[in-house]
Amino acid sequence: MIILKLGGSALTIKDADKPTIDDVNLDRIATEVASYNQDMIIVHGAGSFGHIHARKYAIGDRILGDDDKSNKTMGLCLTQASVQLLNYKVISKLHEKNIPAVGIKPSTFIVNKDKRIDECDTNLIRKYLDDGFVPVLYGDAVLDKNDEIRYSILSGDQIITYLAKKLNTDRVILSSDVDGIYTDNPKTNPDAKLIDIVTKDTPLTTTSNDNQADVTGGMAGKIRELLELAEYGIESQIINAEKEGNIKLAVSGRQVKGTIIK
Ligand code: ADP
Repeated sequence: MIILKLGGSALTIKDADKPTIDDVNLDRIATEVASYNQDMIIVHGAGSFGHIHARKYAIGDRILGDDDKSNKTMGLCLTQASVQLLNYKVISKLHEKNIPAVGIKPSTFIVNKDKRIDECDTNLIRKYLDDGFVPVLYGDAVLDKNDEIRYSILSGDQIITYLAKKLNTDRVILSSDVDGIYTDNPKTNPDAKLIDIVTKDTPLTTTSNDNQADVTGGMAGKIRELLELAEYGIESQIINAEKEGNIKLAVSGRQVKGTIIK
């Protein structure tokens, strides 16, 4: 079984001021996904469908009083509805390509504690997989058992780590809008170099040179999750979903340029 993450940065226009799909990318990626040849779970990021609401309502920050509680309660509803809409658009596109994609809403069966998954029953996902479906989960906003925050963001990257450990996973592929992990953010530093293999011994600091990576933003969170997975014995790879053909090669079990985390 493979777990494929479709990065929110490839599926949506991440810098948009309102939730916006990247229609061209979504159509092409869905066509490529249709080449899969084994059991597969897809997890997609939230991109502009998640972070605009989550940031506005500061989901995951400490609740400061009754007004803030009401505000964040509404914010949780809006964030969930927005990412569910993205999920609907993603599975609809997968249906067009004849992929039996079943959308599964994480916030209906996952509860966090201190921003990490605490409750999650994977039986339903297993049953869909066994019956030949492709379960499609996504980054969501969920209840949190920490009374000071009550709600938190559950990233698609965290869902992957959790599911990969719980279910019998052979390969974990994360696609984003860059080729992998670089020595610095490749979007802002043209001299950044791609790192082929990252292990727990790779220095990930704030001074970048050939052997050290200055990892920030979403990529830093991904590395934390994927190193945890590596510690558990599951290797993963980060690849670029924006390069035509990469997803197709990856889901059909072939080599793709990217960074391996082991
Ligand atoms: P996604 O939405 O695809 O899951 P994110 O946007 O959260 O991914 O994270 C990917 C982004 O991380 C890249 O677009 C890149 O700009 C940024 N980034 C920061 N530092 C690095 C680095 N050292 N290597 C690669 N990407 C990096």
